[in-house]
Amino acid sequence: MRSIVIIGGGNAGLSCAARVLRQQPRGSVRVTVVEPSPTHTYSPMLSYVGSGMAGLAQVCRAQRRYVPAGAEWLRRSVTLVRPEAHTVVLDDGSELDYDDLVVAPGIMPDHEQIPGLAQALDTPWAATNYDTQLAPKTWDLMSGLRSGTAVFTVRFHDVACGGVGYKPLFTACDYWRRTGVLQDLRVYAIVEAPEFFPEPKVAGHIARAMRRYGITAITGARVESVDPAVRGITFSRGGAPESLAYDALHVLPPHRAPEWIARSGLAGADPMGRVDVDPETLQHRRHPTVWSLGDAATLDTMSSGGAIRSQSPVLVHNIFEPDPARFQRYDGYTVAPITLSRRSLVLAEVDRRHCPEPSFGIRDLANPRPWTFAFDRFLQPVLYWQGILRGLI
Ligand SMILES: Cc1cc2nc3c(=O)[nH]c(=O)nc-3n(C[C@H](O)[C@H](O)[C@H](O)COP(=O)(O)OP(=O)(O)OC[C@H]3O[C@@H](n4cnc5c(N)ncnc54)[C@H](O)[C@@H]3O)c2cc1C
Repeated sequence: MRSIVIIGGGNAGLSCAARVLRQQPRGSVRVTVVEPSPTHTYSPMLSYVGSGMAGLAQVCRAQRRYVPAGAEWLRRSVTLVRPEAHTVVLDDGSELDYDDLVVAPGIMPDHEQIPGLAQALDTPWAATNYDTQLAPKTWDLMSGLRSGTAVFTVRFHDVACGGVGYKPLFTACDYWRRTGVLQDLRVYAIVEAPEFFPEPKVAGHIARAMRRYGITAITGARVESVDPAVRGITFSRGGAPESLAYDALHVLPPHRAPEWIARSGLAGADPMGRVDVDPETLQHRRHPTVWSLGDAATLDTMSSGGAIRSQSPVLVHNIFEPDPARFQRYDGYTVAPITLSRRSLVLAEVDRRHCPEPSFGIRDLANPRPWTFAFDRFLQPVLYWQGILRGLI
C-alpha cells in the first residue's frame, strides 16, 4: 500500500488528505497527517475578530472533526525530514517512513526581525490579527480610540494573504467615521510596497478609500523597529529613518517557515526558508517524492487560503501521475479579500503575473460590493468547513 505522509493539518494539509482519500481506490493508499494541535484555526476569520464582527468561537474548532475519515492523525510535531531515506523524524524521536511526502506546516511570525515588536505587542497599545490570542485586542484598541494617532502596517511578501492587512485599517476607519470621531484622529498606513496592490484596479479602489477616510499613506516603507517605551514606530524609505508616535498600532509581523525545513535540505535560496518546489508542479526541485503547497511552499505568488483551492487538485493529480509530461500546472492563482468599509469588500483575484483571474469569470468581484462582503464574512466560512477541508472544493 502506498504511504503518503502529510506534515500539517491546516488548510493545505487537510484539503490534500481529503482529496487523496476521495480520489484513490479504498485500501490503495495509507494517509497519515502529522499535526500537533488539537484545534484547527480558520485564520481568515481573525480579521473579523479584529474588526469586532466575529468572536474567537468562530475561528477555532476541534481538529478531530476535520481530519478525514480513513486518514491516521499523529498528534506530534515533525522536527526533521530525511529525504534521501524517505523518513520523517517526530518530536518524540520516532521515525515515520513515506513513499510520498506533502510538506504543509505553514509559516510563523518572526518578531525578532523587528526590534521592539514583541515587547510592543505585550503593551495595551499594539496588536495584530496575525495572532489568534491578540486579534480581540485589535478591536478593543481601535474601538476604544477617540483621539490621537493610529498606525497600521501593510506587507505582502512575507505574510499569509498580505492584502488583508488593509482589513483592520478600513474597518476601523469606517467605525470611527460612523461614531463621529474620525476627524479627531490621525490615521497612517505604512505600506511596504511602492503601490497599494500589484493589480492596478484594486490599487485604485484602495487609493480612493485612503482619500475618503483621510488616511496618510506612506508607501515603499520598511518597518525598522518599534519602541514601546515611547510608543514610536521607525521606518525607512531608502533615506534616513523616520518615526511616528502612535496611540494605537496594528502590525503585520514578518513571517518565516519552520527552521527544520532548511535543516532537512528542503529549502532553497528563499529568505523565508520555505520548501523549494517547482511553483507550477509543486514537486520538490531535488527530491521528486517531496511535495509542498500552502504558505510553506515557494510558489512565486502571494500566499493565501484561496490559493490552496487551486494548488491542492494540482498536487494530488501530480503525486499519482507517473509521467511528468502529463503533470498539471498551477498558474499562481491567489486572492486577497479587502474590506473597504464594514459593509463592502473587493475580492482581488490575480495570477502569478498579477493579472486579474476572477472566479467563474465574474469581473465584478473586484469592485467593492456588499454581497462580496457577505460572501467573505458569512458564506466562505461555511464553504471552508464543509467543502474545502473535505476536499470537495
Ligand atoms: C489574520 C489572517 C487573515 C487571513 N485572511 C485570509 C483571507 O481572507 N483569505 C485567504 O484566502 N487567506 C487568508 N489568510 C491566509 C490563510 O489563512 C493561509 O494562507 C492558510 O491558512 C495557509 O494554510 P496552510 O495549511 O499552508 O498553513 P496553516 O493553515 O497555518 O496550517 C499549518 C498547520 O501545520 C501545523 N504545523 C506547524 N508546524 C508543524 C510541525 N513541525 N509538524 C506538524 N505540523 C505542523 C500547524 O499546527 C498548522 O495546523 C489569512 C491569514 C491570517 C493569519
